[in-house]
Amino acid sequence: MITCTRRIEFDAAHRILNHESKCKMLHGHRYALEVSFAAKKLDDLGRVIDFGIVRELLGAWIDEHFDHNTILSIKDKKLGEKIAAETGQKIFYLDENPTAENIAKFLFEKICPKIFARKNVKCVAIKLYETPNCYVSMS
Ligand SMILES: [Zn+2]
Repeated sequence: MITCTRRIEFDAAHRILNHESKCKMLHGHRYALEVSFAAKKLDDLGRVIDFGIVRELLGAWIDEHFDHNTILSIKDKKLGEKIAAETGQKIFYLDENPTAENIAKFLFEKICPKIFARKNVKCVAIKLYETPNCYVSMS
């Protein structure tokens, strides 16, 4: 199987509710996302999908919702509302704690299928680096 992978980086803040240590503090990461696609057959030019299309579609979603934003659990709305009131940010809430695992799962299960529904490709794997040394993956 041939897969095509695009890397997209973004900056975001989060905090992990009930974390045993420092991650309960609001803090930021330079996240790096690697999303892989597969197609039943290559297109007429010999591609799974044009890298530019991935940047255009998924990159636009990331820019609008995650980049330079704060990602919080829906249970953390009190903090989110304070930040939003002060900065005007449109806080992004997840149903679960915004761990790298839950962010990757959300992108893999909810966002990628929706964004690429009309393309002839399927998102088959996702890797999300929270730091240069730590990542989660799902396929
Ligand atoms: Zn963190």
